[in-house]
Amino acid sequence: MTTHSLPEFGPGSVWLVGAGPGDPGLMTLLAVHALAHADVVVHDALVDPRILSMIRPGADIEPMGKRGGHVSPPQTEINARLVELARQGKRVARLKGGDPFVFGRGAEEALALAEAGIPFRIVPGITAGVGGLAYAGIPATSRSCNSAVAFITGHGQDGSLPEGFDWDGLARGAPVMVFYMALRQLDEVVARLLAAGRKPTEPVAVVSKAATPEQSVLESTLGQIAADVKAAKPAPPALLVVGCVVGLRKMLDWWEPC
Ligand code: SAH
Repeated sequence: MTTHSLPEFGPGSVWLVGAGPGDPGLMTLLAVHALAHADVVVHDALVDPRILSMIRPGADIEPMGKRGGHVSPPQTEINARLVELARQGKRVARLKGGDPFVFGRGAEEALALAEAGIPFRIVPGITAGVGGLAYAGIPATSRSCNSAVAFITGHGQDGSLPEGFDWDGLARGAPVMVFYMALRQLDEVVARLLAAGRKPTEPVAVVSKAATPEQSVLESTLGQIAADVKAAKPAPPALLVVGCVVGLRKMLDWWEPC
């Protein structure tokens, strides 16, 4: 593997690194490079332990992340810590699940670094809503089915569904919807979609721990999924996928635990 074109990880800088949804093989070369050169890695609760084991021996590791239902440091504290470590002249890798700029608060951290005048780089990762779906045998788009897909968070700032959401517009305009952080608000998400005209027979799936050895996929319909989730209790993190692409899974389910 040639890595000569990879940029230098300069002292006193912060790289916001996406780790992908789970499988270490889904990390980018830049992400691996960051873990090999970081002096300190500040990581999210969502980062897979197999990925943490790739961190350079001798580097400091600081777990610091948001995880629904768990006590975690406020975002301002995380931002301040990143600035503090960079000012100490460290190479700081801020490691996040999926992509740092997709529902990952990476934007807030990058803004804090920009305001503090700290040099930073964004290392995109494969977001769960694309890569996790692929591991479940569900394409985000398929020409026979949808020409648009919406990524939606089931969590507003205070943990409930985001305020002021246009459910009618969403139901009309997004043939396929991928909800992040949707499990806790599942009943309400389903009720809103049905009220906005989506059909109870529409195929849906809950994809849990995608791209990890514990991956599981619950296929159902919009009308039935809330009851099925209560019975099966899929573990977080999980995605809810709504739409015709779920139907392709019966042909495309390629994944086997290893
Ligand atoms: N930045 C991340 C998303 C962080 S929000 C990304 O780009 O993927 C956290 C939500 O992401 C979880 O509640 C869940 O909905 C989803 N998620 C992250 N990793 C996942 C995985 N391995 N399997 C299923 N869902 C996942």
